[in-house]
Order: sequence, then C-alpha cells, then structure tokens
Amino acid sequence: MGLPTDSQIKLTEFVAPTVLTIPITEKIINDIRPFFPKGTRVIAGYLSEDQLYWKINYHWDVLREAIDHCLGLDLEPSFVRTLKSLKTDLDANTPDPSTGYRKSPKPGEPKDKSSHETILARHQTVSACKREFAKVVKDADVFKKTKRDPKALMLAYAPVASPNKGKHKTGYALDIAGNNEEIARITKSLGGYAFNEGSHVHCEWKNGVDTSGNAAADKKSSAAREIGIKVNQHLINQRHCFSQIA
Ligand SMILES: [Zn+2]
Repeated sequence: MGLPTDSQIKLTEFVAPTVLTIPITEKIINDIRPFFPKGTRVIAGYLSEDQLYWKINYHWDVLREAIDHCLGLDLEPSFVRTLKSLKTDLDANTPDPSTGYRKSPKPGEPKDKSSHETILARHQTVSACKREFAKVVKDADVFKKTKRDPKALMLAYAPVASPNKGKHKTGYALDIAGNNEEIARITKSLGGYAFNEGSHVHCEWKNGVDTSGNAAADKKSSAAREIGIKVNQHLINQRHCFSQIA
C-alpha cells in the first residue's frame, strides 16, 4: 500500500509562479520534485542577462529597505552611523526608476534605464554594502531586536552573483527555499551542487539529476509517492502558462 496521493508535493506548490524556465530547467524540476518534502519551494530558475541585471536592482531595493528597517530599531549610534553611510553608498548609484523591484510581481520589471556599466558598478556597491550590513546585523544583535523573519534579513545580505558569472542564465541552477539543511542534503544526493545562502539554497545540476546513487534513502519514499506524480502530471501543462506570464 502506497502513501496517499497528496504525499507528493504538487508542482504548483513546489514552483513559485514567478519562476522562469527553459527546457533544461523544466527537466530538472520534474526530476527532482519527487525527492523534496512539502514546504519546499523553487523560488528562482532560469534568468536571462537582463533578468540578472534586474536581480541586482532587486537586491539593491531589498538591502535598502532592510537598512531602513534596522534604522527603526534601538541600535547603538555607531551602528546607526554605519547603516546611514551604507544607505548613502547605495543611493549614489540608484536604478531608474528607483523603486518597484522589491515588490514586483514580475521579475524583470520595472526595466531599468541605467547603462550596463552603471548596473555592473551597482553590483560592486551592493556586494560591498551587503558584507558591511551582515557585520552590523551580527555585531548589533539585530536578530534579537527585530520581530522580522530572520530569513528576510539574510536575503538582504545574501551574496548576489555577478551577471558575468551567474549560473542562472544556464538554466541548470535553481534557488530553493525551505529547510536549508534538508534541501542541501537532497540536492547533493541527487548529484547536484548546493550552496546555502541563508534565505535559500542555490542549487546546480550541471550534469543533470542523478537518481541512481546516493539518493537511495529518498528514493525509497519517492517510489511510494509515484502515484502522486502520475496524478499531478497534468499540472506540468500549467507550468507553461506560468512561464508565459512570468
Ligand atoms: Zn541562485
């Protein structure tokens, strides 16, 4: 007797509607889905160069807002000074338009009018500010002073890849959120590379998904969940709709 059909995580639950895919990404998602527990979510997949540029603006916006949030907490003056100076650094290279990235329902929009050189310089600034911000969060014990989800602040200081090096434009990289330790373990057992970024795990399957080897432990439960895959197969068609709107 197998597990109930709802033990298989549904594609609509597993993949956020804003995630973009190309065929290689879709294959990876379909191959790995049976191995991941409910509550796990793919939050990013394929990104074009333009979208990688957009991602820098997204992080610029997220970091700036997180700094504002921390400035509203009861912190010592030295930390306040550092945070204010980080904000000044960020404001010295502002996207055009200056807002709308953090809460955008559509990755890639708004579209920034800045030149590529300006955006690449912004990547340097954002990266440096993230490192400083991480120090303040740690040294000022921010996690104990805020009611905000720690992962939201971790996202603000999570490294953002240079568009020249970003693996998301290959289509074989996924950002997966949930129980980070579990995600990293399962990813590695499926022949992937995993890097825990705090707010999520950056995963890569450069050579495809390997379900033959170390995945045995998860394979056992996946066999029982196979019924669920068949039942939910029709959802794969819906994904294409997501790709079109995202
Ligand atoms: Zn990533």
